[in-house]
Amino acid sequence: MDLPALSLSELRDAIAAEKVSPVEALDALDQRIAAVDAKVHGYLSRNLELAKRNAATADLSKPLGGVPIAIKDVINVTGEPCTCGSKILLPYRSNYDATVIQRLRAAGAIPFGRTNMDEFAMGSSTENSAFGASRNPWDLTRTPGGSSGGSAAVVAADEAFAALGSDTGGSIRQPAALCGIVGLKPTYGRVSRYGLVAFASSLDQIGPFTKTVRDSALILNAICGKDPMDSTSLDVPTPDFTSLLGRDVKGLKLGLPREYFIDGIDPQVNAAVRAAIKHYESLGAEIVEVSLPNTEHAVGVYYIIATAECSANLARFDGVRYGHRASDATGLLDHYGRTREEGFGPEVKRRVILGTYVLSSGYYDAYYLRAQKVRTLIRDDFTKAFEQCDAIICPTSPEPAFKLGERADDPLKMYLADIFTIAANLAGICGISIPCGFAETDGKRLPIGLQLLGKPLDEARLLQIANAYEQSTDWHRNRPPVV
Ligand code: GLN
Repeated sequence: MDLPALSLSELRDAIAAEKVSPVEALDALDQRIAAVDAKVHGYLSRNLELAKRNAATADLSKPLGGVPIAIKDVINVTGEPCTCGSKILLPYRSNYDATVIQRLRAAGAIPFGRTNMDEFAMGSSTENSAFGASRNPWDLTRTPGGSSGGSAAVVAADEAFAALGSDTGGSIRQPAALCGIVGLKPTYGRVSRYGLVAFASSLDQIGPFTKTVRDSALILNAICGKDPMDSTSLDVPTPDFTSLLGRDVKGLKLGLPREYFIDGIDPQVNAAVRAAIKHYESLGAEIVEVSLPNTEHAVGVYYIIATAECSANLARFDGVRYGHRASDATGLLDHYGRTREEGFGPEVKRRVILGTYVLSSGYYDAYYLRAQKVRTLIRDDFTKAFEQCDAIICPTSPEPAFKLGERADDPLKMYLADIFTIAANLAGICGISIPCGFAETDGKRLPIGLQLLGKPLDEARLLQIANAYEQSTDWHRNRPPVV
């Protein structure tokens, strides 16, 4: 049995049938990582011995019993580093588990390995990581996407059965699309953010990277729900997210937002998404045109709100509480200044400065307050669109994976990578990216992602719709050429 190639569900079944033990699964994964991660650079650290000790006590009767799951390096796991892709936190080790980690453990899973990311989740390519970019397993000269690019790359390269990431403006869906796997951003408040290092608190949400839609549902089952440690987590019923899987999509309405099929979208992406829409029609879904008229403002609004929130959230990295501390400061202000100058990379500094500016008195009304008002309009657009359809269908990313280095010096071009994903975070709705084809570029096959956006708290329906496509196509079975 090629253990690392299994999906989470397949491994779970093999463990339950006592065909493999969790320790054997960990060893097989570790060997796979040793063989390919020098090329992919998806992991920042891993602790096999600790994972094996946890495996010994994992409850194998539970839904994720004995399954290792990789964790983006922005989510706290007791005893492990949590660098957030930044030098500023380097010596820090977590002294507690994030709520999602507690819940994964309660479901029998074993956190194993910390994945690479753009510094503090700011970016779309992992090139803002202080530890070097990850590489796309389909073409090692290209980005796996970002910011959770490490999590996407390790699942795609069979270095993990599944992984957790965080999505503030697309950081789960975009890398999932570029790596040819499934990435789910739950509704804002569905999953506790306690123990997730905050980037933009009103947008951040944790979610899974998996090889199949069913695996996403299983992880969401484990991690969702009200948490007294996060006042923004919602006190709502938590259905079994696998319950609608296998049902057909006959009679369901899928909304095609006319503003999402713009000039500049890669022709091969356009063709693949159009073919996926036809496929849904052949499965019995009805396609209706919808309008999201404020789409053009989403990127601008996001970069005001996200930077404003990050400038406040990142104030805590001051060299007093944890992490890096400048050694030769002459006074308190000098200490703050030097610590942050030495610890943060250029993108983080750029955003803290921009965020501080838009929040400063005199500019607050013109930028932050106005952005919040337009955010409400964007949310209202979705509310109206969902009166006409059960889910929205569109591309995840305007292009397949781009070359590393191609955009690193052009932040504005980089910001457009999330043009189709950002509005869902502003509106707080759920979204998923699933594989829907390949682009042929320079003799390489590059995955294309289909994005489905769902009503707030309607993940079960979203997963049903995604699963119907996946189970009647073969895209998700393709594995990248990395050896
Ligand atoms: N690429 C977007 C940004 O740079 C989104 C990142 C994210 O979702 N964490 O902010």
